[in-house]
Amino acid sequence: MSNPFDVIVIGSGPAGYVCAIRCAQLGLSTAVIEQNVNEQAKPLLGGTCLNVGCIPSKALLDSSHRYAEAAGHLADHGIGMEGVSLDVAGMMSRKDKIVSQLTGGVSGLLKANEVTVITGSAVLFAGRQVEVTDASGEKSTHTADNIVLAAGSEPTAIPPAPIDGDRVVDSTGALCFEAVPERLGVIGAGVIGLELGSVWARLGANVVMLEAMDQFLPNMDEQIAAESAKIFAKQGLDIRLGARVTDLTVNGEIVSVAYTQGDSNETLEFDRLIVAVGRTPRTEKLFAADSGVTVDERGFVFVNDYCATEAPGVWAVGDIVRGPMLAHKGSEEGVMVAERIHGKAAQLNYDVIPSIIYTHPEVAAVGKTEQDLKAEGVDYKVGSFPFAAIGRAMASGETEGLVKIMSDADSDQILGAHVVGPSAADLVQQIVIAIEMAASTEDLQLMVFGHPTMSEAVHEAALAVDGRAIHMVNRAKR
Ligand code: FAD
Ligand code: NAD
Repeated sequence: MSNPFDVIVIGSGPAGYVCAIRCAQLGLSTAVIEQNVNEQAKPLLGGTCLNVGCIPSKALLDSSHRYAEAAGHLADHGIGMEGVSLDVAGMMSRKDKIVSQLTGGVSGLLKANEVTVITGSAVLFAGRQVEVTDASGEKSTHTADNIVLAAGSEPTAIPPAPIDGDRVVDSTGALCFEAVPERLGVIGAGVIGLELGSVWARLGANVVMLEAMDQFLPNMDEQIAAESAKIFAKQGLDIRLGARVTDLTVNGEIVSVAYTQGDSNETLEFDRLIVAVGRTPRTEKLFAADSGVTVDERGFVFVNDYCATEAPGVWAVGDIVRGPMLAHKGSEEGVMVAERIHGKAAQLNYDVIPSIIYTHPEVAAVGKTEQDLKAEGVDYKVGSFPFAAIGRAMASGETEGLVKIMSDADSDQILGAHVVGPSAADLVQQIVIAIEMAASTEDLQLMVFGHPTMSEAVHEAALAVDGRAIHMVNRAKR
């Protein structure tokens, strides 16, 4: 058994590789173990995010948006486009190139920081012993003072809709269709359903989304969810709520999906079906029973506020622990754990993690929703402002949506912000900074925002909290 390392990180996704780099920066000798390999048996780094998640999905979202603009919307700007054509293979190879550039970049960063990469599948045993089995079946055992589990997650399967990798796919399959399906079904109208459903709808597919819940985007602010639903319906996404899939058959190239909605039984036929009903932490085979690590009933590793597990010297970060399954949440946990291993009192503000749906327009949020504040009995103020009254939004032809900001009724401290509209992700990031600096809406009111920018919607929404927005008529005048 070899022990040349201070820290061993299991998994090279955004939680694992970022943790490893920060450990190395702090002078800790660090190894990352990754099971994912390419055809040459070389490690494929970057996890779900870089290989089959954030990056390839955003590449396709961007390409499909450009196609939809060229094929339809540029006429509004007085630009005629004739003979716009679609090269799905070209789009896919652009996406694959970006993925390989970024995964290669992670490899280079780990090397430059002198992080050792060990290839193989790892299992943690008692006493922080890690057994690694490589692709040829060869085993080695390693140990370190600190082990960081960062094994990520995988698509959740549901019994009525088994994935066949051809007609019925998960998110990974939906990132590499070789042609645009004419009729595309999506089970689950969550983040993945909306993003990948949008990609293929923009490229010409008729998309029907079957969502089990009666409420659309239940974790979002209700007003923003309702506004988003209207925008997506206008874009042609047919989102059916309260739809429970009961049966699925694949007959040649046709997928028949039976579902119930209220009292009615329905059947739809699709050319392809995406199942996107959530993700499951990859913890089943990650540690032995004697490792001291424990999980909850859904498979998430039990950790404290600082990502320490119940086993001494064993930490867990990213999608395998509680909290939103987001790359940036996992990365910051990775940094926090590295700092803690090094003896610093680092912490993470879990209340201020932004979340974004990268549709067009984007939907983004940070902090409390209005329904949260009502449920918690918090006395709050709210201001909102529509993009329809923002000059830059009109100039861009992107007038759908609004910015909404809420603050404490007494202290005026900002409690949450929710945006559907152009540049929503970047606008919400401004509020992330504001909340972290304990800013009030008055602070935002007093700041100078450039004109003409989308950011002016943030300024106006902050002014609207006190009934003093300039470019709309306020209900309350102060
Ligand atoms: P992962 O990225 O899943 O990485 C875990 C790594 O550990 C993998 O490489 C795996 O091979 C390896 N591993 C697992 N078990 C072992 C083992 N026993 N031994 C060795 N190696 C092991 N999040 C965002 O914030 N923004 C987005 O825009 C976004 N878009 C997404 C789009 C899609 C289609 C999907 C599926 C996800 C998206 N996510 C997004 C979520 C994001 O990808 C995850 O939250 C993030 O990748 C989790 O990081 P992680 O490091 O915890 O795990
Ligand atoms: P999700 O939780 O966002 O959505 C899943 C949806 O499927 C929910 O609305 C749920 O009610 C529905 N559902 C569950 N079971 C169902 C069933 N049997 N029939 C019909 N509907 C059902 O999960 P996701 O879209 O699969 O994404 C997984 C994770 O990946 C998310 O937690 C998200 O954080 C992350 N992700 C993030 C981004 C981003 O940050 N932009 C993008 C993609 C994925």
